[in-house]
Amino acid sequence: MSAPPQTVPAPAPAAAPAAAGGDAPLPVVDQAAVPFFEIETLRAREFIPAAKEALTSLLKEKAEGNVIRPVFNWAGRNSLFPLHWGLACCAIEFAAAFGARWDAERFGVVPRSSPRQCDLLIVNGTVTWKVAHKLITLYEQMPEPKWAIAMGNCATGGGPFRTAYSVVPGVDKLIPVDVYIAGCPPRPENMLDGVLRLEQLIKERRD
Ligand code: SF4
Repeated sequence: MSAPPQTVPAPAPAAAPAAAGGDAPLPVVDQAAVPFFEIETLRAREFIPAAKEALTSLLKEKAEGNVIRPVFNWAGRNSLFPLHWGLACCAIEFAAAFGARWDAERFGVVPRSSPRQCDLLIVNGTVTWKVAHKLITLYEQMPEPKWAIAMGNCATGGGPFRTAYSVVPGVDKLIPVDVYIAGCPPRPENMLDGVLRLEQLIKERRD
């Protein structure tokens, strides 16, 4: 007995070229789309070796100080994180500098509440010998690189209480200070000026 004849499908007619401005159907992608998170993972995997290769080639051409240091200086000076604390009346001006009127955060200055997340200590008031060891502990808990600003006459040199038995005659007796801000109290714009001067110091940093 012979096999039944096979049915061969007729070839599909060739798609007509879309007329300009016509109603040609949009092309349909029948392949399953790659999930978004997989694309992101792939991109992250490719980024790290690509960045490593770019940095390696840069370092081969130039000394490290000429390539890496300006990048770190630029990032550091535009993202200063001062410790969120206050000592005396200058702390009110410190707080006001972060309000809507002066808006210190537009300079990338964002107070943080843990010294381990800070790179700037703004000493904003009278430093007594009783609080001195706490201040040193907070400073030492901050990671390197770090900076300190003495804000106001008290932090700079003891201010009106310089001769008092209980007052440290300048916070530079306890920690290294990078910028001094005069005033009793200095206004918020004085504090911002001190921060901008510190940014200039960071910009010129080469060590
Ligand atoms: S400098 Fe003046 S305003 Fe600032 S903490 Fe000392 S006394 Fe208060």
